[in-house]
Amino acid sequence: MRDDISLIETLMNCSKCRREAIIYQRYSGMHLCSEHFTESVESRVKREIRKHRWVEHGDTIGVALSGGKDSTSLLHFLTKTFGNRPDITILAITIDEGIAGYRNKSDIKKIIERYGVPWHTTSFADEYGITLDNIVTRQGDDRRSCSFCGVLRRRVLNRVAREAGCTKLAFGFNLDDEAQSVMMNVLRGDTERLTMTQRDNQGMIPRIRPFATIPEREVALYAHLPVGPLADKGCPYAHNALRKDVRRLLNEYNWLHPATKYAVQGLGQNLQGRGTGPRGELEICPRCGEPAFGTCRTCTILDDVKHVRKNEAP
Ligand code: SF4
Repeated sequence: MRDDISLIETLMNCSKCRREAIIYQRYSGMHLCSEHFTESVESRVKREIRKHRWVEHGDTIGVALSGGKDSTSLLHFLTKTFGNRPDITILAITIDEGIAGYRNKSDIKKIIERYGVPWHTTSFADEYGITLDNIVTRQGDDRRSCSFCGVLRRRVLNRVAREAGCTKLAFGFNLDDEAQSVMMNVLRGDTERLTMTQRDNQGMIPRIRPFATIPEREVALYAHLPVGPLADKGCPYAHNALRKDVRRLLNEYNWLHPATKYAVQGLGQNLQGRGTGPRGELEICPRCGEPAFGTCRTCTILDDVKHVRKNEAP
């Protein structure tokens, strides 16, 4: 990836202290040593948390922990920053989607042991009686795998977080993820998502994204410094995602114009809440009892899969 080249272009001294630099931030023009790089990441994340009041007195924060670099970095940051606060509780939640060879529970367990937080786990198989691999097989192709996976994971994460007493659900989404999501909504012409109002709804745990302004490669380096290399195998269904194409497009453009991802992420933030208005209070899905507008998408997807099952040849 072109963006990584600047990791190698660092045979320079830190712009702040003259120690050896470990990274060159193209958008700021700064070379940073490990200490000043860590300080730079953490100060920006803290600023974002203060700006959105994402962490408050008495919070129980559930970190959606996949074991990848983003969620591990987030767990590292939150335990380092708030771990000694008696009024803040941090726990981790892992969902196994049932994708062969993808999640490695023993690797995630090592991360949990390192940070010593309570760990809640479940799986699509336990929650829905079917794995994502089974769903893809029943559908006959994997074109919609990410859309199914996202919907099913969101619901189970919310339920587990709610039952664990969480007041916030924290995701390791980074600047690249945020900019990609905005671009995907633009490319789909999805005005509703671009302009929707984020609001608290009963039963839905408020979501926080502390790394929303930190580029992906910086999040990876932030995790690498204290934790070391993390196995990031990559999901076998990722090749289908529109996100992959948008990622490439943004990386290419960002190479020419290094502030592009910040500009796109800022555009997304500015558009939020500018739609025709909130979609109203969430109700309860009559099928599963979870918060939704009418029958939730999870139940619709599971119905779809059952429908395919019924139509299968004997
Ligand atoms: Fe799920 Fe798609 Fe991510 Fe794989 S790439 S874990 S299918 S959302």
